[in-house]
Amino acid sequence: LRDYIKGFPKESDLMIIEVANAVELKVKAGSKDILVKNLYLSCDPYMGILMREPNPSTSALMDAFVPGKPISGYGVSRVIDSDDPTFTKGDFVCGMVDWEEYSTINPTSSFKIDVNINVPLSYYTGILGMTGLTAYVGFYEICSAKKGETVFVSAASGAVGQLVGQFAKLMGCYVVGSAGSKQKVDLLLNKLGFDDAFNYKEEPNLDSALKRCFPKGIDIYFENVGGKMLDAVLLNIKTYGRIAVCGMISQYHLETREGIQNLPVVIYKKIKMQGFVAIDFIDTFPKFLEFVLPYIKERKLIYVEDIVEGLENGPAALAGLFRGQNFGKQVLKVARE
Ligand code: NDP
Repeated sequence: LRDYIKGFPKESDLMIIEVANAVELKVKAGSKDILVKNLYLSCDPYMGILMREPNPSTSALMDAFVPGKPISGYGVSRVIDSDDPTFTKGDFVCGMVDWEEYSTINPTSSFKIDVNINVPLSYYTGILGMTGLTAYVGFYEICSAKKGETVFVSAASGAVGQLVGQFAKLMGCYVVGSAGSKQKVDLLLNKLGFDDAFNYKEEPNLDSALKRCFPKGIDIYFENVGGKMLDAVLLNIKTYGRIAVCGMISQYHLETREGIQNLPVVIYKKIKMQGFVAIDFIDTFPKFLEFVLPYIKERKLIYVEDIVEGLENGPAALAGLFRGQNFGKQVLKVARE
């Protein structure tokens, strides 16, 4: 990270540094550390928030990145050397790593990937990682969804949104998604099984778009973007509707956040609106894997990834999330498996 950012994250906010012999390719005896070669790095919107100067509200999320130091995030890596008996050379692990080619980590919060589960390793940055858990707890624990209900998902073609929409379909809900391009809308309609979808950038009036898709109103809104979309949803949500507040990506980097004009609707319509942070549900992870793996194997769940290769392309990939450049889950491939 070059310096704390102001405004939206840009490619130039990050710099690539080459350091000769940065790591000794061995771990110290007695350290309980492991040395890993990083293969896939997850690009996530929260990382943009961590590029900002820390303030009390964001510090509740995670510690901010430090200017001059590497940024970090979830990654999939191969063990090169280990002083921890749980991990041996050649194992694949998933956990927090710095954005660098090799990392020495204390693997207390990393887990060993079961290679007998025959899925792409990159999935552990997404559908089989924190992203998948977010969609799972957000939909199944926060929304209280029932078969036949109407569900609206914003940023619907993204990492989390594409899964929420498919979970809602598996439950027998009527699902509509919004996304920022025709290609993304086509993906929702033709590949991911959404009942309807619209490109919010081309709708002159979001309220009318929602009325067209939900003539009888919305039971559940899975909120990923905030701002004008939330305002329009409040005009179209049913009495006793639920809003799972997963993210508000449109607001994170505005100098002045948009006010929500229709918020009093929450009172009149007795809306339940709940924010959540997936990491708080980490104990649910094994149950989530048990749930999701059969659907992946039976191809009842599709996962769309946007894999960019080369650490040097990481800054553009990360900044691109805030311009809707990614088509599905944004992953950075750092090295071959
Ligand atoms: P995505 O893969 O959906 O990528 C971000 C997408 O957001 C972009 O592709 C773009 O899609 C959309 N977007 C970007 N800027 C704007 C904007 N100004 N207005 C509207 N849409 C915008 O990311 P994730 O699926 O990883 O994350 C989705 C949301 O979930 C984010 O808000 C994130 O912060 C949140 N999140 C929350 C977690 C939690 O624990 N609560 C955990 C993980 C994510 P488009 O082209 O369609 O506009």
